[in-house]
Amino acid sequence: MNTKFLWLPVLASVLAGSGCCTSCKLPVASAKAAPVVATPAPARKNVEVMVDGVSGFQDTVLQPDGKWHVHDPARPQPPIVSPGNFSQLAAPPSDAIVLFDGKDLSHWTDRNGNPPPWKLNDGVMVSARQDIQTKEQFGDLQLHVEFREPTLATGEGQGRGNSGVFLMGRYEIQVLDCYDNKTYADGATAGVYGQHPPLANACLPPGEWQSYDIIFNVPHFGPAGELLSPGYVTVLHNGVVAQNHQAIRGATGWKSPGQYTPHGPTGPIALQFHNNPVAFRNIWVRPVPVVDDP
Ligand code: MG
Repeated sequence: MNTKFLWLPVLASVLAGSGCCTSCKLPVASAKAAPVVATPAPARKNVEVMVDGVSGFQDTVLQPDGKWHVHDPARPQPPIVSPGNFSQLAAPPSDAIVLFDGKDLSHWTDRNGNPPPWKLNDGVMVSARQDIQTKEQFGDLQLHVEFREPTLATGEGQGRGNSGVFLMGRYEIQVLDCYDNKTYADGATAGVYGQHPPLANACLPPGEWQSYDIIFNVPHFGPAGELLSPGYVTVLHNGVVAQNHQAIRGATGWKSPGQYTPHGPTGPIALQFHNNPVAFRNIWVRPVPVVDDP
């Protein structure tokens, strides 16, 4: 095992936890009086625009396709697909690691290893105060997660029922209430945040339980930290394919097209707190062996 980059997940997970929107105002550290040695260039401020009822940006960097900006409100909306019944309350397979069965939060901490601040009520945990992450570290995996968007639905766009599933603590599969709620396509439910819109909008109404079934392959880095192969993700949202072995472009973040920072072969699963009380239940994971045969 290459131990050279084992410290990087810690740093990167701290950085990755900021995948968010304008509603997320991080506190600014108080500044002590100090001699001014240089006048920094003013930070570029993007202008939020509205296109067909969707709020986003058209002055952010372009996606690699050269057509759409990151969080571009003109990027086509995913087609709406009404899902059938799929994996809600799916019992974990015999070799699964059950991360949350409604009894306790013993598999979870906050991003700094402290007790998780989320609330546990009637077998459901509800996002609060900050992100949480698993104590265990995972590489390639199969992950089952169920979530429920709050009722009554309040807020618009990214402000309605926002949470997220962070693979390796840094690659966010967006959780959002996109039922009768438009947002920029690369930030929609089951999107790879800021990069890949979902192939379908399979959202159920707020208050109903929904499922993600995720298959994830970790990215691989060479000895100098160069990217050898990207991470790949497949996401079924309520049984509907939303990501199809999609290459991830790096750690996800607000207004970022994605950027890789080399890291080790495993990382935690994190769940985002983004100012909305999103409920979760029945979370389990199966580590998946790597098969080298063609
Ligand atoms: Mg989110």
